[in-house]
Formats: sequence, structure tokens, C-alpha cells
Amino acid sequence: MSEPSPNRSARAEQRPVTAMRGVGAMLAERLQRLGVTQVQDLLFVLPLRYEDRTRIVPMGSLQPGLRAAVEGEVQLTEVVFRRRRQMLCRISDGSGFLTLRFFHFTSAQQSGLARGTRIRCFGEIRRGPLGLEMVHPEYRRVSEATSGLEETLTPIYPGTEGVAQGRMRALVNEALRELDRAAVRDWVPPQVLAPLGLPSLKEALTYVHNPPREARIEELAAGRHPAQRRLAFEELLAHHVSLRLMKRAARTEPSWPLEDPEHLSRRFIESLPFPLTGAQARVLKEVETDLMGHEPTVRLLQGDVGCGKTVIAAAAAARAAGSGFQAVLMAPTELLAEQHWRNFCQWFHPLHVPVALVSGSQPARVRRSALQAIASGEVRIVVGTHALFQEGMDFAQLALVIVDEQHRFGVQQRLRLQEKGRKHGRFPHQLIMTATPIPRTLAMTAYADLDISVIDELPPGRTPVKTVVVPEQRREEVVARILQACREGRQVYWVCPLIEESDELRSQAAEETAAVLAEALPDVRIGLVHGRMPPAKKDQAMLAFKAGKIQLLVATTVIEVGVDVPNATLMVIENAERMGLAQLHQLRGRVGRGADASTCVLLYRAPLSELARERLRVIRETNDGFVIARRDLELRGPGELLGTRQTGLAQLRVADLMRDADLLPRVQQAAELMLETCPDNIAPLAARWIGSGERYGRVG
Ligand code: ADP
Ligand code: MG
Repeated sequence: MSEPSPNRSARAEQRPVTAMRGVGAMLAERLQRLGVTQVQDLLFVLPLRYEDRTRIVPMGSLQPGLRAAVEGEVQLTEVVFRRRRQMLCRISDGSGFLTLRFFHFTSAQQSGLARGTRIRCFGEIRRGPLGLEMVHPEYRRVSEATSGLEETLTPIYPGTEGVAQGRMRALVNEALRELDRAAVRDWVPPQVLAPLGLPSLKEALTYVHNPPREARIEELAAGRHPAQRRLAFEELLAHHVSLRLMKRAARTEPSWPLEDPEHLSRRFIESLPFPLTGAQARVLKEVETDLMGHEPTVRLLQGDVGCGKTVIAAAAAARAAGSGFQAVLMAPTELLAEQHWRNFCQWFHPLHVPVALVSGSQPARVRRSALQAIASGEVRIVVGTHALFQEGMDFAQLALVIVDEQHRFGVQQRLRLQEKGRKHGRFPHQLIMTATPIPRTLAMTAYADLDISVIDELPPGRTPVKTVVVPEQRREEVVARILQACREGRQVYWVCPLIEESDELRSQAAEETAAVLAEALPDVRIGLVHGRMPPAKKDQAMLAFKAGKIQLLVATTVIEVGVDVPNATLMVIENAERMGLAQLHQLRGRVGRGADASTCVLLYRAPLSELARERLRVIRETNDGFVIARRDLELRGPGELLGTRQTGLAQLRVADLMRDADLLPRVQQAAELMLETCPDNIAPLAARWIGSGERYGRVG
């Protein structure tokens, strides 16, 4: 193999995944959902966690909670009926026994597990009624002769909707071989990295995708290995430096001072059926002071779920409209955009201010007339989705860009929207909203130059969500409670277990749960949302739920952020012991949105680990997102095997703002250096880590 010339490596970096053997249109599309379009993107899809398949654990030394490989001989396989039809398979290796439990199985599978068959399984050990067990383990038959153990720790990649783990591993490994041939460019200036003592990009990538068998799995789970820190550093830098670039771009030109001579903002606030909370009033003042200035604003508006950020967005939009300009609010999903649009119509219609919606699913004719009204300036307030980026989308005079759930958009996308408003040498103001609870001091460092406003108070009269923790065994009581809620005209969410590695299993579990619940609750209208449904179907189900046509919504954790269904007063979360604090908090935020008392039922399966017990205690005792974020950090110490993904900072793949806080000062220095010495490296660095933003937000 010849040395890579710079030219060749540039080209290698540009190679689309479809150039890889066996990657066809369908797989390419699935990969795209993970943000992977180029071969090199594969390298930046980082493992959620690792499994040790390098050694067989004797059954006698298994512990509940452990994920392990075991090998043994089948002693008995039988199909039994215990509430549900299931297949039990008992295996032994001489040192102990283990029961394998299957709810889905074929007769071929059953006969394949005949007495005397030798199998190797991998899965999580749980305490079951018959002693230790694995539910739906991966398994295969082995002969005495096979070794076939892995040589490195096995990475588990984030759920990929139809891309199996094995396939993903093979693709990543092929990308790693290409990395060898044509190095992926390191965009971080070496002067920055040297003093930190972190490995090169190539070393880091190689290590995290294939950690050697002697690697410490606890250290990896805690995200503390230098290879991970190297990537975390680069990721933080990518976010930070692109925000700085954006701010700098915005500073080069003045903006329009929005004086609102029509007093539309004030009239809007006065028309609301409720007074603003103290925090809303304070934040609105900060926002308005910005908007009246000549300098373009880039303000980050932070506030826990349900604190009422939308009203602030609407008041800001009203100020732009009342000054004769246009404002646009961009939301990450059709559903959210539509929800905002409905709210805005309701608020602005009485004030005779038309509001336009631009979304991908509206009929072409409707969209065309919306675009026309926007281009002519007839409509001053616009709500939309990614469809706002389309060709032909032209604003008459855009003075304010508002982005909801900012972490679900890439910086590039925001820049493009900002570009649309750049006219006559002026720049639009920007308001960026997020529910991610980051302690203020950290946010200031992480987002550097952004001005930050925090709404730290919930509207009054809201009864805090009551959270109860209930063991699996009392499921029937919970079902009775659902029936009661529906009879009272209420709506209910049922969130199915978190099975990280497989979207398919997760969706299957959701379908099955929906079927079981439908049987138990024949008079209740049940809907289903899971990750394997096409987005339009998902939206449809969510809209039906919002409209009250569905009473009980069974869902995987895909339930969209920001969805507001005040009539939903009960949420059941299954296997809550397996979820992180931040995720539980976000999910729970879907209820308690009206004046009536809401309840969140956390169903768990015993036995609880020490840590799970503590997490459930925290979530039961507090509703405060910031307190939860802090406890989350304290709880996730080394030894925690859940990986780094549980933070709720969904926009970060490896980095964790709290855990990696010590890197932030260096990140700032590095950003300054890059802006001075190699500004051209910023765009590719941002593209690598932030991309088009589409890979975010799929918590489910
Ligand atoms: P988030 O900050 O999570 O986006 P929303 O803007 O969706 O929250 O607001 C949640 C709910 O609270 C909405 O139904 C909204 O109308 C209501 N709300 C907002 N501000 C107030 C207030 N000051 N008093 C009472 N209800 C409010
Ligand atoms: Mg919101």
C-alpha cells in the first residue's frame, strides 16, 4: 500500500457509505438516521457501552445485574404458561445452573435447544422465580472444540433502527481499516493537545471501538479513559467553537432595533388568561432589552420542562411583528411545529396577526401560498420545521429567529436560517430555547459567548406530579388505575422498557405491551408509538392522542420532547430501574401540564441495585430538573456501568458537561486559537460532531 497523499486522504474522507461493500440504499438510509453518510462518520458513532465477551463466566459465580457470557449444556427445555406463554430452558456448566426465558420463540428454536445441546449465551443476569436467569439472551450452539471468544471488548452502538449490532461493528471496523490507509484529518491544533497528554485522534478512535480485553470496563463505562477524554475534548470544542463563530458572524453587522410601536408584545401578554410568572417576566425583560438594541442578540433561554418558554418566544415574535418585521420559530418535529402553530394562532388571531405554518407534510398548494405570504411580507409570524430550509423559502424581512429544543438542530442549520434573514447589511436576532438542565455556571462556560436567561420557576397552580414507585408484581393495580383515569376522561401514557441495543426488540416489546393492555382494557382506545414506525405514522398517533381520540398511548421512549397534552394525567414507566435520572425526568415532564393532579408510576423489577434504588428515590422526591441533574452527576461515579448516555444532554455523544468540566477552560483556549490560526478547520470539525443535527433527539 502506498503512502496516502493529502489529496487521496481528502478523497477517502469524502467517501459515501454506499461505496462500502454490501451497503445498499436501504442500509444507507438507516445509517443516515444515525447521521452517517460518509465512511468517516461511522468512526464517530460511539459505543454506548461495552460488554465483555472475551471470557466465559462460570455459572457458580454469576451475580444479578452482571452482563456475562456463559456456556453450558441444556438440561431441560419446556414451554409453560405463566400469565403468558413462554419457553424456559435450563442450562448447567457443572458449577451452577441458569434459566433462559423466552417470550418469543419458534418451534425450531425449541427443538434446537434439546437436552444435551451445548450453547453459549450472552445477556444480563437477573434474579427470577427459579433462581438466576437471562431473558431473551443472545445464544448460539457450540461444539466442544470452538473457542470463538472475542479478542477485544465488544462495543454496543446506539439503537440504529434495523442495523444489527454485528453489522454495525463490521462497518465500523472497515472504516477503521480505511482510517489506517488514509488518516482522518485531525482538525484540532497540536499545540492544544500536547499539554493535555491525550492520545491522537487515530489512537483514540481505534481504542474506543476495539478496547483490548484487559481494558477496564468500569473506566470505560465512566467515560474516564484518555481515549474517551480525547474525543470528548474534540466534541466540546466542536460545539463551543462553532457557537463562537456564529456569534462572531452575527457581530459583524448590526441588527434591527425592535421598538414595537404597535405594542403588539404588550397586547399579547395582556391578552393571556394568566399572568407571567416572576421568572418569565424577568426573562422577557432581558429578551426585550436585547431586541431593542442595534446589536444582534444570540440568547440562550433555558428552563425546565413546562416552565413556559413558548410564551416568551411568542412575546418576542410579537415584538418583531409589531415593529413591522418578521419572526420565525423553528421546531424539530412536525408535531411540535404544529403544536406551536396552533398555540400561536389562538393567541394572535384575536390581535389580527396572521401566523403561517411551513412543514414538510402540508399539501404543496397550502405550502405554496404560505411561502408566498411570507415572501411578500403579508405574514409576519412563521412557525416551521426543517422545511424552512427549502429552496424558495424567502422572507420579506426576517428580524428574529427562534429555535426550540436547540440541541436537536445542528449549528449549520441555525447558521442557514440566520443567513435567510441577512438582508440590507443587517442580521436577525436569535433566541435559542432549551430544556436541558445544565447548572448555570457550566452553561456559561460551555456556551461561552451566548447570553443566558434562565426561567427557574414553574407557573403557579400546577400541582406537582406525584411520583410513586411500584414493583412489577402490582401491575394489575396499575392497570386498574389506568381504567379509572380513562373513565374520568383523562389520558394516560405507558412507557415501555428501555432496551438500548435493539430498536427491534424495543418496538416488539411495545407492540406486545399494547396487545396485553388492549386485552385487559377492552373499552379503552389505545394507540402505539415506537421507533420503527415511519415518522408520519408516529406524528399521526401523537396527534390523535393530543386530540383525545386515543386515551392510552403506549410508547417507547420516543415520546417527543415538548409535547403538551394537559389532559394526560397519568404516566406509567416500565422497568424504570433501568433508566437514567435525566431521562426519567424528561419523560415525567409529559404529565402535570394542566391544573389537575398528575401521577407518575414507576414500575420496577426487583431486585434493585443500590444505585437504582437511589435513583428512584431522587426522582420520587424532587421535581426540580437542576437538582436532578446535580444528583445524577454525583451518582454516576466510576463503577456505574450504565455508560455516559444517561445525562440527558442528548446533543453530546461522548462528552459530558459535568464530568468533563475540567476540560472546558482548555476548550475555550483551543477555540480562540482556532479562530485565530485556522478558522477554516472549524466548519469540518463542526460537521464531524454536529453534522446536520438529525442524529439527535432520538432518545428512544
Ligand atoms: P416549555 O417551557 O416546556 O416549552 P410550555 O411553553 O409548553 O413549556 O408551557 C407549558 C404550559 O404552561 C402551557 O400549557 C402554557 O400555556 C402554560 N403556561 C405558560 N406560562 C404560564 C403562566 N405564567 N401561568 C400559567 N400557565 C402557563
Ligand atoms: Mg417547549
